[in-house]
Amino acid sequence: MCKRKILMIATGGTIACRRSEAGLTPVLSGQELMEYVPDSRNFCQVQGLQAFNIDSTNMQPKHWLEISRLIKEHYEEYDGFVVCHGTDTLAYTAAALSYLIQNSKKPIVLTGAQKPIDMEVTDAKTNLLDSLRFASCERTYGVNIVFDGKVIAGTRGKKERTKSYNAFSSINFPVIAIIQEEQILFYLDDKDRVRGDVKFYSCLNPNVGLLKLVPSADASLLDYMAGRYDGVVIEAFGVGGLPTYETGDFRDAISKWTAHGKTVVMATQVTNEGSNMSVYEVGKNIKKEFGLLEAYDMTLEAAITKLMWILARTKEPEIIRELFYQTINRDILWKS
Ligand code: ASP
Repeated sequence: MCKRKILMIATGGTIACRRSEAGLTPVLSGQELMEYVPDSRNFCQVQGLQAFNIDSTNMQPKHWLEISRLIKEHYEEYDGFVVCHGTDTLAYTAAALSYLIQNSKKPIVLTGAQKPIDMEVTDAKTNLLDSLRFASCERTYGVNIVFDGKVIAGTRGKKERTKSYNAFSSINFPVIAIIQEEQILFYLDDKDRVRGDVKFYSCLNPNVGLLKLVPSADASLLDYMAGRYDGVVIEAFGVGGLPTYETGDFRDAISKWTAHGKTVVMATQVTNEGSNMSVYEVGKNIKKEFGLLEAYDMTLEAAITKLMWILARTKEPEIIRELFYQTINRDILWKS
């Protein structure tokens, strides 16, 4: 049997860490990581590529672009791609890659681990082996996260646990598959939906900020952010709304944002079930008055990176709206 060819792109993270005086530091190379999963030779041929070796706390949009560039450069040579990554910002990278690489018939898998691969008790070997297995399967495609036996769409992952092996959840969307005892059990098996060629994008606008509301929120923060950002995601309470304090500060701040052609996306700080600004008076009026966008069932990671992708392409409010509500890699089901 001809084995599938996989490119493993190593970027650092706990999976590649060794203990040092200064704390866990990523030092193991992609080649060294592969030595811990010799069983992968039974079903695939892996080539390692070291993109960088960093804690994912230091991951920035320029790194997402570099990972995407590497995949583009080697796209024709391989059947699938596995990106080893720190877990802390893995969900952002998975979402960013979902926008940067669209319509891929080949699988692009992101994985990592809660414990370094050289520890005796670790989830790293299982996660890496599962990822290679998923990337070697002919039925898989597009950007997904493989972690703790779950396959999660690249736009739906969120790190919800800092220590346990089941660190990632699929938010507002079912898992694509589970991997148990060397078997992939598919819940969604729809590769035939992918038509046409893969499309790579090479620009992001990193000037997208986040404002999380707290009960003492000060609208002048929004004024400050307007000097720095082209778009903002506001994480409101519950299904969504903005404070209507007597001063009217929030309304004024929002009106300045939209008057300058800047984008405001309303989201919820509640992890599950998404926003719906039209339920309460505190949300409905302001959304309508200023034509605010709404994240609905999207994750924060997807909303932020989607806005970066969109704002690198256009400044036209109507095109921004159209692109934001267009479903990409299963990121949004609700429609306005
Ligand atoms: N701080 C690490 C990182 O994100 C955590 C991990 O990989 O689990 O790079």
